[in-house]
Amino acid sequence: MAEPIPFRPRPRRAARSAVIVGAGIGGLACAIALRRAGLTVQVVEQARKLKEVGAGLQLTPNATRILRDFGLLARLEQVAVAPRSLDVRDGRSGATITRAHYGPAVTRYGAPFLVVHRADLQNLLADAARAEGAILTLGSDLTAVEPSFGGVRAVVKQGENLLAHGADILVGADGVRSAVRAHLGVKDPPVFARRLAFRATVPVPDRHPPDVRLYLGRDAHLVVYPVKGGQMLNLVAIVKQTEPVARWSAPGDSAAVHAAFASWAPEVRKLLQSASHFLCWGLYDIDPLPRWSSGRVALLGDAAHAMLPFLAQGAAQAIEDAACLARSIETQTDAASALKAYETERRGRTARIQSEARRNGIVYHLSGPPRIARDLVLRSTGAGLLDR
Ligand code: FAD
Repeated sequence: MAEPIPFRPRPRRAARSAVIVGAGIGGLACAIALRRAGLTVQVVEQARKLKEVGAGLQLTPNATRILRDFGLLARLEQVAVAPRSLDVRDGRSGATITRAHYGPAVTRYGAPFLVVHRADLQNLLADAARAEGAILTLGSDLTAVEPSFGGVRAVVKQGENLLAHGADILVGADGVRSAVRAHLGVKDPPVFARRLAFRATVPVPDRHPPDVRLYLGRDAHLVVYPVKGGQMLNLVAIVKQTEPVARWSAPGDSAAVHAAFASWAPEVRKLLQSASHFLCWGLYDIDPLPRWSSGRVALLGDAAHAMLPFLAQGAAQAIEDAACLARSIETQTDAASALKAYETERRGRTARIQSEARRNGIVYHLSGPPRIARDLVLRSTGAGLLDR
């Protein structure tokens, strides 16, 4: 006689289904993490197409370790580049202030430091989310978040129609101007950093090493690194701007970029002149929020903790959020406690990084004696720069 099959209760999870608003890096990472935790997942995204928004992203080991856990590292490495070092230079003279090798950091943190085009990472995550069984619905603009039969639902406008997607939990991964955040009653507007970011990708010049270069100067800086498997260079020029800009991203005024860097080293001007056009972002962050969750609704990524890009951690923290949220759903027994536990675990770390990113924005643009002091510190702590 066959042995009786032992009864194994299904592990109790805090939720069995999720609707995620936003298919950026955070929303897609969250879709993968929640699918792997066994939830059914629906992602609603307002854009009709996942298009090439943004340019390069630096992905530090805290992010690549999670992407490796998702089984995505090999695919990521095909489109990304592992730079050798960070070369910090004086923008006016082009002289190296300090150079920090990524090798020791990689050994210490057990995962690579990679640079990648945002569109390549977003497409990779979207493919992986679909392969895991998440449903992505594009062209769906969130109009309301409502309670529904012991759960929650996202009401979206799709063309002329209003559709409702119900689930046990709703994750607002809808970016710095989050509508889900407003639903939680947190109405503080994003804070303009008085900085614009002009981004472009250009063909890699001859003999350009596969490094990250950071050129520092008064009221401006330039970040340069390879993307697209080393075929292109990503340029991010940050300049001061007093008037806020209305749109999140828009075609940039090339003449304004060249004027801001007119007295910088020839290598800087040559790099900027190689760009046929720039896209321009007004840089915004938010102050740490009073809460990230309420009942069955939680925020994730920029919606929860938009930060300035001067520590290259916005996407990385969104990916950390995703892994933490999934862990919390697996280990807690009810939805609201799981979302609260996730919020409690993540708030302190992200608030500290938001504040450090703001501070870097000041330190990068120093002039006069404070600049000399900064460069002395950079020279003496070189590799320590990577340990943040
Ligand atoms: P988003 O990418 O903003 O995605 C939100 C999504 O929600 C979008 O697709 C949007 O269309 C959708 N959405 C919005 N409203 C609705 C709605 N009503 N209904 C449905 N969908 C909606 N981070 C790093 O880790 N490393 C870096 O090197 C780095 N460099 C950067 C350089 C610059 C110049 C900038 C500006 C940012 C940089 N960042 C970097 C930050 C990083 O890009 C962001 O933190 C990250 O992309 C945030 O991801 P997200 O998914 O939270 O939000």
